[in-house]
Amino acid sequence: MDGEENPAEELRCDFCGEHAPNVRRVALDSGYDRLQKPHRERYACARCSEQKEQERHSK
Ligand SMILES: [Zn+2]
Repeated sequence: MDGEENPAEELRCDFCGEHAPNVRRVALDSGYDRLQKPHRERYACARCSEQKEQERHSK
């Protein structure tokens, strides 16, 4: 058993707020968002995680 998945919990994207069948855990670098705790983990749907990847590479 692995405790990674919790089907009882609704999966929701933290970026667009949409419910998503699959979300990816995204660890934000410290300093990314000063109002949040450093290394906070968020969940992103496929589309948002892709967008974040592109933003990261374009900078
Ligand atoms: Zn999203």
